[in-house]
Amino acid sequence: MKIVMVGSGYVGLVSGACFADFGHDVICVDKHEGKIEALKRGEIPIFEPGLADLVAANAEAGRLSFTTDLSGPVGAADAVFIAVGTPSRRGDGFADLSYVYAASREIAQALKGYTVIVTKSTVPVGTGDEVERIIRELRPDAEFSVVSNPEFLREGAAIADFKRPDRIVIGADDDRATGVMAEVYRPLYLNSAPILNVSRRTAELTKYAANAFLATKITFINEMADLCEQVGANVQDVARGMGLDNRIGGKFLHAGPGYGGSCFPKDTLALIKTAQDYGTPSRIVEAVASVNDQRKRAMGRKVVAACGGSVRGKTIAVLGLTFKPDTDDMRDAPSLSVIATLLDGGAIIKAFDPEGMDQAKPMLPPQVTYCTSTYDCLEGADAAVLVTEWNIFRALDLDKARTLMKKPVLVDLRNVYRADQVRAKGFVYADIGRGTAAPAVADSDAA
Ligand code: NAD
Repeated sequence: MKIVMVGSGYVGLVSGACFADFGHDVICVDKHEGKIEALKRGEIPIFEPGLADLVAANAEAGRLSFTTDLSGPVGAADAVFIAVGTPSRRGDGFADLSYVYAASREIAQALKGYTVIVTKSTVPVGTGDEVERIIRELRPDAEFSVVSNPEFLREGAAIADFKRPDRIVIGADDDRATGVMAEVYRPLYLNSAPILNVSRRTAELTKYAANAFLATKITFINEMADLCEQVGANVQDVARGMGLDNRIGGKFLHAGPGYGGSCFPKDTLALIKTAQDYGTPSRIVEAVASVNDQRKRAMGRKVVAACGGSVRGKTIAVLGLTFKPDTDDMRDAPSLSVIATLLDGGAIIKAFDPEGMDQAKPMLPPQVTYCTSTYDCLEGADAAVLVTEWNIFRALDLDKARTLMKKPVLVDLRNVYRADQVRAKGFVYADIGRGTAAPAVADSDAA
């Protein structure tokens, strides 16, 4: 099949490379000339494990290519995927669909012969109807169908998720389009991946419902963590006790600094707006978004408390900036709020992230100092805060850290360490909801 991917970011590039690996002919399009030039040279603009090799192998085999001009490729395509961004719109939090609609207009001009246009971007219910209307208005003569095929991949595990998905959701309102989508995903049919054929509107809503539910699970366990801290219970054990119940499941029950990333924050907001617009407000999701927002700043205050109530003039080493490990994505990362809170309190910030520092620099205030390694970051610090659980932060040499730091204070926002082991090394240690919170250290205590 001939496939065009409009938008070559995290989703477009991974999906395009995986479709090519299935044996399809794929052309990835992007407006960003620098990105396309880099891809043509074999450079991958994002950090995603395994992606560079997958792109190289399929480009080499002649199944994957890159361009800024969609007109020729769209004319020859069986299916054109729209994988452009749908960020929160400034002001009201609704999904900004301007990129989707702009792409739809460009695609319309280039259509030749029957083509399936597929929204892979996460889009609110009814967007497919509008895409169809836009294309029909511009090209009354064109033969096409508009399908919704939301993407569920996770950054950091994107290739495995795409190739071995829990399910594929296809929202097509006509049989011809369903047939084309079946061909596109045929290699996965053979792997017995569950394929759900539903209506277009159902597919659009399924994506938001799934993300909002996952965000709710995270937020729920985070609230339980706060309660655990007050009552002396251990949230990891609570989560295990809950998660072993098959009706609940253990995933997304890790207490932490609040969810971030390129999807949950914007998708919960967009769902809230859609539900309000249709007169059926989603009060649960509204509460989730609000609790999560407050939590991110509360994490900064947790560091302040562990430092004896003030961080003014103190150097804080921030370990990890990206919203989760194995990605360089900084969108809505909890580190942004934690660092802002600490800077507001007068702290001096040193930071280290193995992959995310280039993305972080334009998003963080200029006074942050970026370090070359974990121990460079810890040197001279009055406290360290582990924000993202990259593997290299999981086995710190605590003796070395203690000698390098001005004061041995570790705030572990991911519950990576065991309190007794860290404290045995002479550290003041604070974690999330494990009933192990130490009283904040007075300045004179932590030498
Ligand atoms: P991204 O910002 O990484 O990439 C979007 C790309 O689209 C950019 O490179 C941009 O230059 C390009 N673009 C914009 N308008 C264009 C146009 N008219 N023609 C060609 N290219 C254009 O975004 P992303 O993270 O890949 O997300 C894309 C969509 O997928 C969003 O709706 C997102 O919610 C959804 N999604 C993302 C993830 C994820 O983990 N990132 C997972 C599932 C779904």
